[in-house]
Amino acid sequence: TSVFVSGATGFIAQHVVKDLLAKNYTVIGSVRSASKGDHLAELLGSKKFSYEVVEDIEKEGAFDAALEKHPEVSVFLHTASPFHFKATDNEKELLLPAVNGTKNAFRAIQLHGKNVTNVVLTSSYAAVGTASKDANKDEVINEESWNEITWEEALKDPVSGYRGSKTFAEKAAWEFLKENNPKFVLSVVNPTFVFGPQAFDSEVKDSLNTSSEVINALLKSGANGVVPPVKGGFVDVRDVSSAHITAFEKEAAYGQRLILNSTRFTAQEIVDILNKRFPELVGKIPVGEPGTGPSLRANNATIDNTKTKKILGVSEFIGLEKSVVDSVSQILRTRK
Ligand code: NDP
Repeated sequence: TSVFVSGATGFIAQHVVKDLLAKNYTVIGSVRSASKGDHLAELLGSKKFSYEVVEDIEKEGAFDAALEKHPEVSVFLHTASPFHFKATDNEKELLLPAVNGTKNAFRAIQLHGKNVTNVVLTSSYAAVGTASKDANKDEVINEESWNEITWEEALKDPVSGYRGSKTFAEKAAWEFLKENNPKFVLSVVNPTFVFGPQAFDSEVKDSLNTSSEVINALLKSGANGVVPPVKGGFVDVRDVSSAHITAFEKEAAYGQRLILNSTRFTAQEIVDILNKRFPELVGKIPVGEPGTGPSLRANNATIDNTKTKKILGVSEFIGLEKSVVDSVSQILRTRK
C-alpha cells in the first residue's frame, strides 16, 4: 500500500512517516525542497520512502504533478499547514495557505488519485473548541463541537489566525466531500498541543516547532524567568502518529473527527515535572508556585473524547509526565 504524506518534514509527519515505514507501507512524502527531502530520506534510510517537491501547498494545482506521478497511492494524509503564532498578516500567512492548501490537496486527489480510498486530514482541537467555551468550566466539548470563530475574528491576532486557519481548512474539507461526492472516505484528527520527542535526535534545533517550543522555552527562561500563562490540552506525538494510521486502517474511524487529547496542562505543571525529574535543571529554570498548576486550569471546559478513544481502541493516551520527560531527555542528550 502506498501512502502519500503532505508536509513530510513536519514534527508530527516525521513520526507518521517513520511509523508507516515500520509497518511496511510505501511512503511518498511532499517536502518544500529537494534538500529537505534528501535530508529526511537519509534519516529514514528506507528504500520504501521517496519524496516529491511541493514548494507551496497554496499554489493552484500544487499537488497535481505529484499525484499524477504516483497513481499507485491509495491513502493520502494531509498534514501540511502553517503552524506558528507570529503572523503579521493572518490572511496571507495562515488562513489562505491552510484553506487553499486543503482544497488543492482534495482537488488533486479527485483529479489524479484514481486509487485513493482514504484521506486523513490533520486538523486540530483549534477547529473544535471555541475559545470562550474552552475557557468556561460549564462547557463540555466533544467530537460534535466546532470552533465558532468567524473569518473577521480570525484576523485579530496571530493565535486567532492560527485557530481560524484550522477551522476553515477543516470546513473546506467536509464541504469538498458534500459538493463532489468523491469515492474516498475522510477521517479527521484533531489534536490538542502536541508534545513528545522529535522523531530523530538530529531534529533537535535551538528553536523547535511551535508546540515543542512551549517546553523548550521553559528550559531557556532561566531561574528567574516567569512561568508563562500557557495552558491547554496536550497529547503525545507518538499517540498522534498512531492515530493517523488507525484513522485509515480502521473502518470505525471513517467519516469521523477524532479528538486527540490526553489531559490538560499548565506551564506550571511542566515546570514542576522538570524540577522533580531533572536535578541538573534545578536552579536553572523557574520554579513558579509549585503545585498550583491544576488550580490555574480549574475553570476550563471538559474535553470529552470518549468516542474517539473507543474508535481508536485506546484506553489512556501517554500522560504529561512521560511526554515532558521524554521530550526534555532528548533535548538534554543532544545538547551535551
Ligand atoms: P510543523 O511546523 O513541524 O509542520 C508543518 C509542516 O507543514 C512542515 O513540513 C512545513 O514545511 C509544512 N508547510 C507549512 N506551510 C506550508 C506551505 N505553505 N507549503 C508547503 N508546506 C508547508 O508542525 P506540526 O508537525 O506540529 O504540524 C503538523 C500539522 O499538525 C499541521 O497541520 C498543524 O496545524 C497540525 N497540528 C499541530 C499541533 C501541534 O501542537 N503540533 C496540534 C494540532 C494540530 P516547512 O517546515 O518546510 O516549512
